[in-house]
Amino acid sequence: MVNRLVAAPERARREAELHDMITVQAPVDQVYDAEKIGIGAYSPLEGFHGSADLEAILTRNRLVNDLPWTLPILLAPAEGEMSVPVGSVKVGDEVAMLDMAARPFAILRVEEKYRYDRKRVARSVYATEDLSHPNVSDVLAAGETAFAGRIDLLRRLELPTRELELAPQDTREEFSRRGWTNVAAYQTRNVPHTAHEYLQRCTLEREEIDGLFVHPVVGRLKRGDYRPEVIMATYQALLRHYYPASRVVLAALSITMRYGGPKAALFLAIVRKNYGCRSYIVGRDQAGVGKYYDPFACQTIFDEFPIDVVPIKFAETYFCRRCGWMATGRTCNHPPEDRMDTSQTRIRAALARGEALPSELIRPEVAEILSRGDVLLE
Ligand SMILES: [Zn+2]
Repeated sequence: MVNRLVAAPERARREAELHDMITVQAPVDQVYDAEKIGIGAYSPLEGFHGSADLEAILTRNRLVNDLPWTLPILLAPAEGEMSVPVGSVKVGDEVAMLDMAARPFAILRVEEKYRYDRKRVARSVYATEDLSHPNVSDVLAAGETAFAGRIDLLRRLELPTRELELAPQDTREEFSRRGWTNVAAYQTRNVPHTAHEYLQRCTLEREEIDGLFVHPVVGRLKRGDYRPEVIMATYQALLRHYYPASRVVLAALSITMRYGGPKAALFLAIVRKNYGCRSYIVGRDQAGVGKYYDPFACQTIFDEFPIDVVPIKFAETYFCRRCGWMATGRTCNHPPEDRMDTSQTRIRAALARGEALPSELIRPEVAEILSRGDVLLE
């Protein structure tokens, strides 16, 4: 397990060197990535990807060492984001990375500097160059020169969800303390509604599963998404009022959500493996957006690229009025007209109109938090 967090005596020495260094104020996505590399969430990465790994990812969905890996993790500052012109930075230089408040939090030793094709990255990872895709515009707005090299992490980021931002080392210790060997991870970027709860409960019913790790992505989100603190507060309410404390662990994961369909699903599962999970819940259209990806490709990719994590696959889940229950096509024979729309779109629209949310869709304790207002990012 990678851990690049610099310990106390060494940290003081490194911090003393900071004032002579080139600085980079990278976009928030790359700030989150640098921290996650440093704490081992992206193991085996010890730094941003170099050109050989990038080529292997784009052509084979693997790293040079043959491990499956689907999303390039690049530091590619645009001109103006560094304290010197991008072209003047040399191999061997040290670059201090600044956080959102412009304070240094990590140091990159440049081991490689290379040009790459941004459009090719967009096409390969997101299957489109369409700027209306939520990640593609970022890929195309990045610089054309990438820097690779190992990272020394000086400290964790100061975030609103900081106390819930566990490191892989923390969760592994917690799972081990609880005597869990097979932990199932649950990926989300939303507040819990009953369809999510259904997948979590079905997973907890499985004999081979010792515990559930609920790990919402709360990094950079889109306008109209729930605030990170709201996502965490609603999950805390669900845990407090409904789930057995002995079977569920909750933590926050500050990374930018990549809506890359199957490739993003596999990446998100690799991250959870690093946090100590051996199973991974994957529903329909995980990490999808629009109509770019086959909604079940996020499940079949696990057959193509074994990563030592068992996918727990679910069909589309809905509330059936005739059954009076959560169901899928595997457990209910009623037509689509009997299904309640459990989509986030429906829930957000109801919230925006100030309507009460039905308990078939959302727990009252969760609805109460959402009814307080100021829950969506503007
Ligand atoms: Zn039914």
